[in-house]
Amino acid sequence: MTTRNNFDAIKKQINETALACGRDPESITLIGVSKRKSADRVSTGLAAGLTHLGENYIQEAVDKIETLGKTSACWHFIGHLQSNKAKFAVRYFDYIHTVDTVKLAREIDRQAAKIGKVQKILLQINIAKEETKSGAGAKEAISLAREFSGFENLSLDGLMCMPPFFSDPEDARIYFKRLRVIQEEIQGAGLENLVHLSMGMSNDFRVAIEEGSSMVRVGTAIFGGRD
Ligand SMILES: *Cc1c(COP(=O)(O)O)cnc(C)c1O
Repeated sequence: MTTRNNFDAIKKQINETALACGRDPESITLIGVSKRKSADRVSTGLAAGLTHLGENYIQEAVDKIETLGKTSACWHFIGHLQSNKAKFAVRYFDYIHTVDTVKLAREIDRQAAKIGKVQKILLQINIAKEETKSGAGAKEAISLAREFSGFENLSLDGLMCMPPFFSDPEDARIYFKRLRVIQEEIQGAGLENLVHLSMGMSNDFRVAIEEGSSMVRVGTAIFGGRD
């Protein structure tokens, strides 16, 4: 399968899933996850029609974005971010999905202020409380959301999660539901700008859409396995 065939197939599945649960397909952004894929490979994705790309590793991403051009896509940082790399994330990315501490938020805010940018961020929640994964605890979500919203150069636009991998995607449903409940609680606490839910990957994006995802992050189903 070519990248174009894969892209067309995923788009079709997004449309069908959205319509089947009464959602507007346009309200779901498809992010092609291009980690570990060469710039050449990624450009086939752009040619196929991808307009949003997600990257996990700062140095690799910076090189790729320099090659492909900042305006070739809307760039999403979805990897673990260390504070000392925040500067690069702010310069190169439209969205940072993985903000999970006040320390990191403060550094992103500081770097964004330096270049006169309001950085769009998402609060990452460790939805299944996995020791090996980053993300804030669900219990801290409201207080962190309040703190993040207080920074002048940050725009907190939503929540992100990455449940465990299950061979049956139905098993991920409770985690997607849980993220949505947290979103509703935060919105109920007065932070209504948290409109996005970044959830769903190659294996489980259909279930995530049924549970309200507005950003699905799809890697292998578009670009194939690792190079
Ligand atoms: C790699 C990655 C994805 C894409 O995973 P696939 O299973 O290849 O679709 C999505 N989100 C994050 C955070 C990732 O690291």
